[in-house]
Amino acid sequence: MIKTTAAICVAPNVPLEIDTLTVDGPGPGEVLVEIVASGLCHTDLTALEGVNASSVYPLIPGHEGAGRVVEVGLGVTTLCIDDHVIPLYGPECGECSMCRSKRTNLCWTIKPTRDRGVMPDGTSRFMRGNKPVHHFMGTSTLSRYTVVPEIALAKIRKDAPLDKVCLFGCGVTTGVGAALAHVRPGDKVAVFGLGGIGVNIIQGARIAGASRIIGIDISSAKTELATSYGMTDFIRPGPDAPDPVVAIRDLTGGGVDVAFECTGVLGVMRQSLDCCVPAWGVSVLLGVEPSGSELSFPPVQVRYGKSIVGSYFGGIKGRTGLPGLIDRFMEGEIDLDRQITHRLQLHEVNEGFHLMKQGKSVRSVVMFE
Ligand SMILES: [Zn+2]
Ligand SMILES: [Zn+2]
Repeated sequence: MIKTTAAICVAPNVPLEIDTLTVDGPGPGEVLVEIVASGLCHTDLTALEGVNASSVYPLIPGHEGAGRVVEVGLGVTTLCIDDHVIPLYGPECGECSMCRSKRTNLCWTIKPTRDRGVMPDGTSRFMRGNKPVHHFMGTSTLSRYTVVPEIALAKIRKDAPLDKVCLFGCGVTTGVGAALAHVRPGDKVAVFGLGGIGVNIIQGARIAGASRIIGIDISSAKTELATSYGMTDFIRPGPDAPDPVVAIRDLTGGGVDVAFECTGVLGVMRQSLDCCVPAWGVSVLLGVEPSGSELSFPPVQVRYGKSIVGSYFGGIKGRTGLPGLIDRFMEGEIDLDRQITHRLQLHEVNEGFHLMKQGKSVRSVVMFE
């Protein structure tokens, strides 16, 4: 058992508390990780605001971290002390039907316990006094030390800077991965929502060879960054502005080949389908909708060839796919520096979420050393 400093969400809509907790050593198949850096992501905010169905309070948020292996539990064979790792909220067990399939990067082996905020054996490794504190997304990277199942850790090259590649734990992989999976050279692309995911879709679309990249957002705060990543046109919808679907059709002579939806707003999802070119346009949904909501659209659009697909973690299998993506960052193809707008210490974490809510940050990274 060791001590850790962590951000604790005791209940929705109250500031995170910073406190010292104890962490139990790793159980069988588990690994104790020392987190070096952790980015703040909007999904953490949903837990803080009480709108994330997989949040059991009190909990330690954080799912975009990078760190080093400190101790391995019984039966761990693929990781050693001092290995550099990125915790994965989507594991890769390598054995289930999803992992053996080439059709998905999902692995639901430990989803039931992960969504209850505990390790696969049904218990938590974190204790505050004599009360357990729950894990969040199976990662809880806003703790100096965290325990993660071996199957939910991607081993990465040691020369990759942990204070930057933590972003591969969520935002960069989700955005760049989705673009690389769906955009072909010469494609015209629309990206609805220029947050942390949207700007990385733009970056990925440029890498994939898109000829035109149209960003759509109700705020113009991220246009400079988006333009530096390859955005060619910007549309800001509003009461006095033309319908963005009409504007996109006008700009592209009929529609885009691929549209990415990163807002989770049902009306915007519909726009992302409507703005696609008939016959082969693809609408890729990434934004998380309010739970229980349903989307309606004219079936004729799909019958004639458009499709609606989704993307989770950029379609990347965490343990086997992430190292290759990090190679592309190390070779200079993917930028992280320009999107890290703030670096914070753990005691400043509430300020980090405040910046996120105000739209003043792209990525804030909490540093543990
Ligand atoms: Zn995230
Ligand atoms: Zn699996």
